[in-house]
Amino acid sequence: MPDTALRSQRIRPPEVDRVAASRAAVAARRARASVKTEIAAGTRSPVEVLDTASRNPSGPEGTLRITDFLMSLKAIGATKTADILSRLEIAPVKRLGGLGKHQRARLREFLIERFEQPTTHHRTRLTVLAGPTAVGKGTVARHIRENYPDVLLSVSATTRTPRPGEVEGVDYYFVDDAEFDRMIAEHELLEWAKVHNSHRYGTPRAPIEDALEQGRSVLLEIDLQGARQVRAAMPDAVLVFLAPPSWDELVRRLIGRGTESQEEQRRRLATAKVELASQDEFDARVVNSTVADAAREVVDLMEVRARRSRRAATSSGR
Ligand code: 5GP
Repeated sequence: MPDTALRSQRIRPPEVDRVAASRAAVAARRARASVKTEIAAGTRSPVEVLDTASRNPSGPEGTLRITDFLMSLKAIGATKTADILSRLEIAPVKRLGGLGKHQRARLREFLIERFEQPTTHHRTRLTVLAGPTAVGKGTVARHIRENYPDVLLSVSATTRTPRPGEVEGVDYYFVDDAEFDRMIAEHELLEWAKVHNSHRYGTPRAPIEDALEQGRSVLLEIDLQGARQVRAAMPDAVLVFLAPPSWDELVRRLIGRGTESQEEQRRRLATAKVELASQDEFDARVVNSTVADAAREVVDLMEVRARRSRRAATSSGR
């Protein structure tokens, strides 16, 4: 075969290849169109689509034009798209998979800010306050409820009987064994435990999920076993250990409050020893010297953590 004929054969693909290529192009266009439909219908999150595009720049998400992507988002038309692109310093001809590192980070931050805030809150705003018996968890939690109305203090269910002054639905939901069994069976409790080997205590799930969904900060004041269950179920929860200034002070507080029999005091001090040994499992430790200071420290920790998690979520890493 003469040389020129060979060259022209190389340049012009055979008919069968051209047909295959055009079929592939049609399929790719269809795949991109369904990505846009899924975003518009809300079945795929814009951030997830961007992340998929970064991982696979030649896939349907990666080859989607940035302008088509933005215009498939809720309440964003041509004018807003142009504004956003100029603010993010991204050229309109770019495809999602072809963005530079900084462009991708800026776009991701914009998408999270605009479309994903409730989810971010959901992941970051649950805090568990645990610590040994009589350390004053209940008093610190009450102080937070009365002075920091933005924080929702979860009301537990318990099978123990009310102490003088305790109010149903405020301090606890006081229930009998049958009702507690029913709550467990119907998965109404986020966690539950038998505390001090006597009564059962559990955290009702629904009010917590509702509050987190609305972006509120939620505080659980529960025992160590419960804290471990929450950590397993919600790894992003922040676990705060409330410690006594000293062991002697803890004993003094337990005996001083005079609400337990000697037998019960002995049982609670035995549990306290085990609980004190678990401090390393916690994200933070607050010493309860004065109630107001400890409460403020706990609330500060909740806020710092929520802020930090939001920052982490808006960086390009996730
Ligand atoms: P008290 O009977 O003194 O009110 O509470 C006894 C213990 O039960 C405390 O250590 C308290 O933190 C814990 N507790 C209260 N509510 C719950 C709960 O919903 N779940 C778990 N696991 N422990 C709880």
